[in-house]
Amino acid sequence: MPSTKKSKELFKKAKNYMPGGVNSPVRAFASVGLSPPVIEQAKGARLLDVDGNEYVDYVCSWGPLILGHAHEQVLDALNRAAGRGTSYGAPCEQEIELAELICTAIASVDKVRLVNSGTEATMSAVRLARAYTGRERIVKFEGCYHGHADAFLIKAGSGMLTGGIPTSPGVPGSTAAQTLTARYNDLASVKKLFNSIGHEIAAVIVEPVAGNMGVVPPAGGFLEGLRQITRAHKSLLIFDEVITGFRLGYGGYQDSVSITPDLTTLGKIIGGGLPVGAYGGKEEIMDMVAPQGPVYQAGTLSGNPLAMAAGVATLRILRDTDCYRQLEKKSFFLVEQIENIIKRKGLGHSVNRVGSMFSIFFTGTGKRVCGYDDVKKCSTDIFSRFYARLLEEGIYFPPSQFETCFLSQAHDLEDMEKTTKAVGKACDGIM
Ligand code: PMP
Repeated sequence: MPSTKKSKELFKKAKNYMPGGVNSPVRAFASVGLSPPVIEQAKGARLLDVDGNEYVDYVCSWGPLILGHAHEQVLDALNRAAGRGTSYGAPCEQEIELAELICTAIASVDKVRLVNSGTEATMSAVRLARAYTGRERIVKFEGCYHGHADAFLIKAGSGMLTGGIPTSPGVPGSTAAQTLTARYNDLASVKKLFNSIGHEIAAVIVEPVAGNMGVVPPAGGFLEGLRQITRAHKSLLIFDEVITGFRLGYGGYQDSVSITPDLTTLGKIIGGGLPVGAYGGKEEIMDMVAPQGPVYQAGTLSGNPLAMAAGVATLRILRDTDCYRQLEKKSFFLVEQIENIIKRKGLGHSVNRVGSMFSIFFTGTGKRVCGYDDVKKCSTDIFSRFYARLLEEGIYFPPSQFETCFLSQAHDLEDMEKTTKAVGKACDGIM
């Protein structure tokens, strides 16, 4: 049993100064009933905690680190940028370069506004959609998470799902009333809303591959159906690609399914591990954003030169190497092995994978997990026991049944062998 003494002491101290001891809820490990390791440093696919324990990391900072931790080219870019100053609050060349890279990569994005987080991106995209359509309501899907702006904290995924919170206190009823929820992978639930009040709906926002209730891929025709319905009712379609953008391909997931959303939100990978978000889309819509147009949105640190440098370095590597093909090969290999082990142990489960994103659901039945209702039936108890054993064996998965594991370019055969061995032991531990 590895020592976790120092982490425990530090986390106890943290609770005196920060709510729940953390700055983002799921990091507290509450849903798996553990105290979190406090991380000291990270390199490649490995994390090192303050007690000296090493972990193979499948959180990758919740998705941004597609190249792994402390990638040399990203660090070089950051060091060079830091030497030129950390923030100007004025135009800089790096932000123009990142904007150009994004607009060139994602066909539906003519123009982009860079912000500091995914939440800022989605919040601003919805404001813009409301301004453009002159309508107030939005549609989101149960189990999808789009950051913590008021309008999205209704039947949301990620930490909200983990904590079983339907709507956060503090969200005004009048705001919640403007957010309608439909069921992911269920077009009929969307049609029903549009048939009754389609003329009031500014936008549908969706994670094209759901990643915040664990990985749930879109059913055939679901995203195409959303495109048709929104177009027919003159509503906007917003693809929230904060996770999937540059994760599942260089042109966004929209490129793999050949769907053109009106607006796209991005985050995570485009900042190379520093705080960045972005929203972009058709020129006609984006030109409504201030100072070009009347829709106000601003940010002291937006386009920050350090964040831009990390983002540019990351995107260039993704553009110029065969990273996605390698990630697909590795992910297929690892997930197939994990699935075989769990199957042999006779545990009712469903392993969902899309590219380098995967989740292991303990369903009790082996039935495929296709939506929020399936996700909610999974056993968080079994997951917690499985999780605790994995952590002891030096494998760091996201600490919730309802999150996504990410692979990075840095994961190698040794990491994956360590992982499959640990999965075998963890399965024995929960029987
Ligand atoms: N959209 C999606 C799909 C996300 O997964 C997240 C965060 N995990 C967000 C938006 C919010 O991003 P941030 O945490 O950077 O505010």
